[in-house]
Amino acid sequence: MDYSTYLKKYPSEDGFFGKYGGAYLPPQLVPAMEEITQAYLTICHSSQFINELRRIRREFQGRPTPVYHCENLSRKLGNCQIYLKREDLNHSGAHKLNHCMGEGLLAKFMGKKRIIAETGAGQHGVALATAAAFFGLECTIYMGEVDIAKQAPNVARMKVLGANVVSVDKGAKTLKEAVDAAFEDYLQNYKETIYCIGSVVGPHPFPMMVRDFQYVVGEEAREQFKEMTGLFPDVITACVGGGSNSIGFFLPFINDPVEIVGVEPLGRGKTLGEHAASMSYGSEGVMHGFNSIMLKDANGEPAPVYSIASGLDYPSVGPEHAFLREIGRVKYEVASDLEAVNAFFKLSRYEGIIPALESSHAVAYAMKLAKEMGKGSILVNLSGRGDKDLDYVIEHYGYGENFKDF
Ligand SMILES: *Cc1c(COP(=O)(O)O)cnc(C)c1O
Repeated sequence: MDYSTYLKKYPSEDGFFGKYGGAYLPPQLVPAMEEITQAYLTICHSSQFINELRRIRREFQGRPTPVYHCENLSRKLGNCQIYLKREDLNHSGAHKLNHCMGEGLLAKFMGKKRIIAETGAGQHGVALATAAAFFGLECTIYMGEVDIAKQAPNVARMKVLGANVVSVDKGAKTLKEAVDAAFEDYLQNYKETIYCIGSVVGPHPFPMMVRDFQYVVGEEAREQFKEMTGLFPDVITACVGGGSNSIGFFLPFINDPVEIVGVEPLGRGKTLGEHAASMSYGSEGVMHGFNSIMLKDANGEPAPVYSIASGLDYPSVGPEHAFLREIGRVKYEVASDLEAVNAFFKLSRYEGIIPALESSHAVAYAMKLAKEMGKGSILVNLSGRGDKDLDYVIEHYGYGENFKDF
């Protein structure tokens, strides 16, 4: 198939990737989203905006991040060569800053003075607070009381960066309630505020905008890999939570002879509530303002989800992923908690790189596939670094003594 016109065609003007996406909103917010869409469509063609974003990426974020050949790990697994795109080396430790800096710059260009968001584990909150400090914007982050207690280091980071962290004590006091609280705030304050969504989810234009801001990841990786090897990788892979690091990594390769695989968290197993593999076990439905594939409970509401990687525990997935699977361009597989933890230890021991537990899911899949392939190459997007996960991993799995050596 020819995908050379894919980016021009999708999403449609009203934000659809086939039947997925759109903007399912309360009427008061329709003009607010329309304003953001128009502003984005204007400035993404402005050389002033583009040059400023490029400067920020180079001077503040430390881009381009390198591509790295895992020679030790590859040798252990046979003859297939594993490479990493090192988004863990992005300032603040993950790919999330790519879209938060874009969203912050957009807010600045639109003359907004405040950005808000919800956060679960605190990763999106930290990245957004970083962007707010850089741009001199006010920043409010909503976080469930339970999550605040669990994620003390990230709460401290947000506060040091100048963000106002609001503790949400309704319901289960976690991510879902934080989303509702942030949404309430936005309904009241949309005139001077932008609600910065943390992945390629939510109503149009966010899945498109966040994708565009993450596109740089795959664009760099494609050039770097070609320069290093003279070839395309046989397979590229990334972990899928909401789907932002993966979509930005995948799309620049869409018209290349490359197999593309997204990896979802299988958690503790296939039972509903024990995983967050929305694409693998979900069905079509609308939540948080967009139509996609989601995990539902008996009442059709978003189901409780679980993963050892808190950045992956979202009960739906960006609409473009649902579409890319439907048209047969991207395949979705799963990796369990244990497989991810094993990959976490292996990459640390054999390459000196401690990966985020989220990213470890993609590494785990690549390790399994490398053994099966026995030749060729796999390029993995290493979305973030694992310092944030060390305490948890050590408490539950020690220093990896119980994981066998290959
Ligand atoms: C948040 C996060 C993810 C998952 O989000 P996506 O939108 O699917 O990319 C993956 N890796 C890291 C390190 C994260 O912080």
